Amino acid sequence: MSRATHPLGLVPCTTPVKTTAVLLAAVILSCAAGVGASPALGAETPTPTTPAPAAVTATASGGAVAASPVATTPVPAATVQGGTPRVPRKVPDAPARVRAVLTRFAVSAPTWTAGAAAPTIAVRLDAPRDTSARVQVRVEDRTSRRVVLRQSLGVVRSGVDVTAAITARLAGRPGSYRLRLIARDQTGRRIVKARSFAVAAPAPAAPAAPVAPAVPSAAKNGYVFPVQGPCNFRSLGAQRFHSAREAGRAHNGQDIGTFSGFPPVVAVTAATVSQVFYDDAGGGWTIVFAGDDRIDYGYLHLKAGSIVVRPGQRVSPGQRVADAGNTGGDYEPHLHFEMRPTPWSAHRADAVDPMPLLAGLPNPCEG
Ligand SMILES: [Zn+2]
Repeated sequence: MSRATHPLGLVPCTTPVKTTAVLLAAVILSCAAGVGASPALGAETPTPTTPAPAAVTATASGGAVAASPVATTPVPAATVQGGTPRVPRKVPDAPARVRAVLTRFAVSAPTWTAGAAAPTIAVRLDAPRDTSARVQVRVEDRTSRRVVLRQSLGVVRSGVDVTAAITARLAGRPGSYRLRLIARDQTGRRIVKARSFAVAAPAPAAPAAPVAPAVPSAAKNGYVFPVQGPCNFRSLGAQRFHSAREAGRAHNGQDIGTFSGFPPVVAVTAATVSQVFYDDAGGGWTIVFAGDDRIDYGYLHLKAGSIVVRPGQRVSPGQRVADAGNTGGDYEPHLHFEMRPTPWSAHRADAVDPMPLLAGLPNPCEG
């Protein structure tokens, strides 16, 4: 036997050996010389039996691969079953029992205003393999901490973005809520995450803050209450005319508290703006009106930058002129409203109590 006799040009190392040990040694040497240091070679046992055809095929590079009658390139073992390649199936019917991770829980708007389209909830779960989770959103009232509604999002598959409109049952329930998402994945684990959410009450019929020139909402005989917005007027004695002030001075007007902010102030009656100035003595930003009724009206402590009229300008009852403020002193925001039947610059002591006028005007104050 020689290498030339083999059709592949290689010595078949599995050739049955029926002769002597000397010849056996020669065959082994021949194999080693012909195919190099094949790892399969050392494992071979030259048993004198009939060889299985091509049980091991030496490759040109000297390696050995599992034989397949048709395969000429290596094929992953997992796809070979019974000698026939199988197309792998990717998506299992049952979701994998793996942990899911909540990668998204968002609400499209923090507040649902009456009449607007329902905000949406966006949810996404991810996992190392295809899985799913059962998802529910519980609507909790932030005041009572009770669950008032439950909204099911059903079974959410991993890797899929899911959006759903917030349940319409919440539309008619103004309040402050917590949306608590609870997902239970295939391992039984609960995933919980919360978002704040509010449902706004319907807007009041009469807007409280008209912009200039405002249409007077509560004019009476040509007069309009000078604050048009949240205010407090009737209950605080310190706000009253001639109540005691420091250094023996009497309070020279009526204060209309605007403790929650800086609502618009409007012209109390038809007038001409006579002065706009900053009063260093404590009045802060001030407007003085020369009323058509021959009374001067002073508005004090106005919010800086809010004055929208200038001297010489005509104003009509209810026209916005500025916002209430707290300039000129360390006060809560309020409007100091003063009336002087003589020209403003004459005598401070000539001021009269505005209460008879103010008390007769419809006003938006709560207390
Ligand atoms: Zn005052």
